[in-house]
Order: sequence, then C-alpha cells, then structure tokens
Amino acid sequence: MLDEKMVDYCEIICCNCTINPLFDEFKLEIDDLDDYPKINVVGYGEEDIFICENCDFELEPLDMYFESNENYQHAIELTTTSIANVLSEKIEHCSHCAGKELEYYEYRAGKEKIPYTSHGQDIYDFLCEYNVPEEFHEEVMNKLRCSSCGYGEEMHPKHNPDGGYFCYSDRIYTAQEISEFWGFEEELIQIAQIYGIEISANMIDNFIEYCSNNPMLAFNHELSKLIFVVLKKVLADEQRVLKRESGVLLFRGRKRVKDSSKYKIEELGMPPLGMSSHGRYNLVGTSVLYLSDDREGIPYEIEPKKNEVVDIAIYQVKQTLTLFNVDEIFRDFSIYISKENEESKTVKRNYLFTNFLASACNEIGFDGIYYKGAGEKSYNNIALFEKAISKVQGKEFVETVEFKAIYHHNQFKVLY
Ligand SMILES: [Zn+2]
Ligand SMILES: [Zn+2]
Repeated sequence: MLDEKMVDYCEIICCNCTINPLFDEFKLEIDDLDDYPKINVVGYGEEDIFICENCDFELEPLDMYFESNENYQHAIELTTTSIANVLSEKIEHCSHCAGKELEYYEYRAGKEKIPYTSHGQDIYDFLCEYNVPEEFHEEVMNKLRCSSCGYGEEMHPKHNPDGGYFCYSDRIYTAQEISEFWGFEEELIQIAQIYGIEISANMIDNFIEYCSNNPMLAFNHELSKLIFVVLKKVLADEQRVLKRESGVLLFRGRKRVKDSSKYKIEELGMPPLGMSSHGRYNLVGTSVLYLSDDREGIPYEIEPKKNEVVDIAIYQVKQTLTLFNVDEIFRDFSIYISKENEESKTVKRNYLFTNFLASACNEIGFDGIYYKGAGEKSYNNIALFEKAISKVQGKEFVETVEFKAIYHHNQFKVLY
C-alpha cells in the first residue's frame, strides 16, 4: 500500500539531475576524486519513497543520491574543481597576458574603422562550448586558471597577486592565434635591423595590401627592394645560410590508387610547367620540386587515402645546395604554410608573402627554401627551385609504400 510508505522529503538530491551529466561530459571518475562524499543507492523493495528536492522526480531502484544538502554541496565543489582543472589546460593565453595586445589592436582598429576582429573566445562561450551547465558557470569560472600567466583561481603571490577571477567577458586565446596575430611582421623587422635596415610595420601592411591588389607588381613596392637587400645579406651570411652537402638523400613521394601502375622516376620529378598547382612556394610560371629530408615525413605531406599507395623516389645531392631556412629567420613560419586550405584572411596575407619570398630567394641565388614539415614528426622539406634541379640526381629505383593512416579530429596521423 502506497500510503503506508514513508515519503522522505528531507534533503534528498539525486545524481541524475546533478553530477551524472557532468561526470559523463568530462569523463570524470569518482575514484579519482579524493574525499568524495557518500553517495547512497536506492535498493530494490525499499520501504521509503525518495523524491529529489532538485528535480522533483521520484527515484527508482539503483538511482543514486546524496542524503544531505551538505554532502551535495561538497560533491559539487569537488566536481567543479575537477572540471575547472580540465578546462584550465585548454586556456593557453588570456586577456590578462598575451591577449592584451590583440584586444588593444582590435580596439584601435575599431576606432579607425579597419576591419579586424581578434579571434579568441570569451569565457561565456568557452563554458558553453564545453557544455558546462549554466547553474555551475560561476563555480567553475572562479576556479579557472590561465596556463600561461596563472591569472584566475585563488591569489598566487607570483602569477596572480591581485587574486583576480575570470569573468564572462574575459577572453582566451590559443597559442596559434597569438602567433598568427604577430605573424612574420615582427621577425622581418628584426632580421632587417640586424643588417641595419629599417622596416616599419606600416610598410608591411601597405605592401600586403598592395600585393593583394596587384600580385604581379609586388617587385615595384619600396618594401620589395628592402627585402631584396635583407635576403642578399642573409645569403652572404655563413651563419644563416643552410647548406646541404653532396651525398645527402632527399625524398619525394606521389600517391596513386593501389592498382594503378607505378610511377617512373621521371614522373616523380618536377611537375611540368603549367601542370603545377599554384601553391606554397610555387612561383608564378615556374616549377618547384618539393622534397622531404626524411621519408617518414612524406605521408604527412601528401596525405594518402585508404585506397592509395605512395611511390617514393630518392634524390641524392650532387652539388651543395644553398637554402633559405625560413623558420630560422621567421620563427615558426611554416605554420602559415601547412594550412594552405584554410580560408582565413591571415593565411591569405601570409600566402602572398610566401610566394613573394620564394621569388625573391630564387632571384637572389638561393637554390631553394628549407622549411618545417606539416606533420607531428620532426622532418623538414625543401622547395627546390627549377634552376637548381641539376644539383640533385634521382635514383632509378622507386619504392612503393602503403602507409596506415588515421584521420582524427581533422588531423592526419600515420601509424607505424
Ligand atoms: Zn534530481
Ligand atoms: Zn593569461
């Protein structure tokens, strides 16, 4: 008889409407949380009826609950701390460190009606993106900490002397966003300075604007002349020029469908004029031979699909190659190149610059450009200019390799 059962209204809070969704979302385990308060379980054939104070649902056998509000509060505290720890790792930079300058630039751009919006994400969107329920926002937010400057959470004498907490409008930035913002401008200015040449940020902005409107006329701009002078200095600087001596092996891969016929060495050379797609370091109207210095890097460069194999040709350096080490000079420049498919404005800006840089290096007497590979493996690529092709020799033997690859979160990974 139902009315004979005790209806227990006293401070029962179920897990279904509180911690369960959080545990699922953030893949937390009770066992990983120290001192977690007691969780009760409704048994079969219990005399009492349990009704959750929070959601008003009647609990069923095997449902879990907290027997007191005190236990519930304690559980929420531990749970939100764990969530905040997980999320803090994703905060690479914030409004209180490297993001400050981006926000200032955005503010100035707004005043001068220059179209610019920094990327970044405000804390509110960040919490929503990670499905933190609104009722726990405040609690989680107060425990977030920037992994770069330490802002947030409680007072810390070194990182957070004022003991500030994040608020909804604070923004967070990825390391990539920060370096994309600075781009190559800073580095170009610095390298020029080393050789006593003054280049201003304004001049670069103006140059890029000019190139986007008339790419073929890039050489007429005043900055081109300065870049030529800088590159000539680099070429003459033994410390900065990268050499690849004779005997060094380089690799070039091309993918094809499994059952199709194998490429010959001639087909693994420089793409014939007119066939080469315009990309990366391809100069308009010329060809570039893309080589890797490690054969393990090849699948990352050409991303073979499941039904494809890769034919690999080996080239040997016959005459010393003099290369422009782009990442050494423009710190981590390759991040702009490895994302050639992305449509963002920054990438396009940089893309124009890459092409110009390649033309200039070619003109001045470099044999090619040396740059970091796209994959997570550490290897480097060489974009060899057409006129230097005689300095390498392809071996007759072409090797066919089938790489096992997985695509995960849009990222390509090779299994070895
Ligand atoms: Zn409930
Ligand atoms: Zn920060």
